Amino acid sequence: MAPSDEPTGPADDLAEFDDYDLPSYVGSTTFQKLPLCADDGSLAASGAEVAIVGAPFDDGTSNRPGARFGPRAIRAATYHSGHLWSVQLETEVFSRVRCVDAGDAPVVPSRPERAHRVIREKVRRVAATGAVPIVLGGDHSITYPSVAAVAEALRPRRVGVVHFDAHADTGAEVWGALLSHGTPMRRLIEEGWVEGRNFVQVGLRGYWPERETFEWMRQQGMRWHRMVEIEEQGAEHVVARAIAEALDGPGAIYLSVDIDVLDPSAAPGTGTPEPGGMLTRELLRAIRQIVSSVELVGMDVVEVSPPYDHAEITAAAAHRCVLEAVSALAAKKG
Ligand code: MN
Ligand code: MN
Repeated sequence: MAPSDEPTGPADDLAEFDDYDLPSYVGSTTFQKLPLCADDGSLAASGAEVAIVGAPFDDGTSNRPGARFGPRAIRAATYHSGHLWSVQLETEVFSRVRCVDAGDAPVVPSRPERAHRVIREKVRRVAATGAVPIVLGGDHSITYPSVAAVAEALRPRRVGVVHFDAHADTGAEVWGALLSHGTPMRRLIEEGWVEGRNFVQVGLRGYWPERETFEWMRQQGMRWHRMVEIEEQGAEHVVARAIAEALDGPGAIYLSVDIDVLDPSAAPGTGTPEPGGMLTRELLRAIRQIVSSVELVGMDVVEVSPPYDHAEITAAAAHRCVLEAVSALAAKKG
């Protein structure tokens, strides 16, 4: 009898594997094949501690578009399925942290104010259940509604922000647009959602914004760490300072990751690439460092533009940013 690779399976071949255990490219397309809880009822019933939210919006971009396709690409950028074991943190990720995919905010193109409204409402409802929203952008303008929603849900407690980016995103406007991806941090501070002194930026470099905007940032008490600090002192040291500054008052942190903080060699698929950035391993380690040592109340990973990506490098990096954060939450449970 010829050898066979067919084990003695159940009578029904179609029932041999749960969707969750099938290869990542087969079956459902949620983040890590997690349960889809797109409506309030199923989200509340899930008891989720973490909920993935898509924010497929890129009307705020100033250069290359395409980040509206980011959430789908990030969800798809994995070859792992089933119950994951984090090799570096030595923890079972999804059996320790109850995590669901809350679907996308129902964004439509060319209506930026409405898009920000629905993103804010979607994130607010997630945060109201007690789950930590992890938002997949989208361009960086989505951080404005997302942080506002988390800060509102957290009241009266205050939130600090650690923001990884090549760019400060504190412009008063960009070509007259107030909801640009170059302005969200300005809006958040102007509206009082986050104190300037607790808004801490890491990885700044390049040629934008201009001197006047940095002067405004200084007046707000903002603190930032340029790429040169990471080069000279190492990322771990810089990130430790950023954590202390963000928590100088607040007890919890919202983490915003613009994938262009990475060097373009590590993240080509983005709208405004800036040479001279972080290594992927530095960023993933920074995320583990932050999430393992603070109370995380929200996170976003933004500016992945799949049409400009090569070999899914950027989407995979963004996907792992999320996975490292969830893994660090799992590891914290001991
Ligand atoms: Mn940005
Ligand atoms: Mn940027």
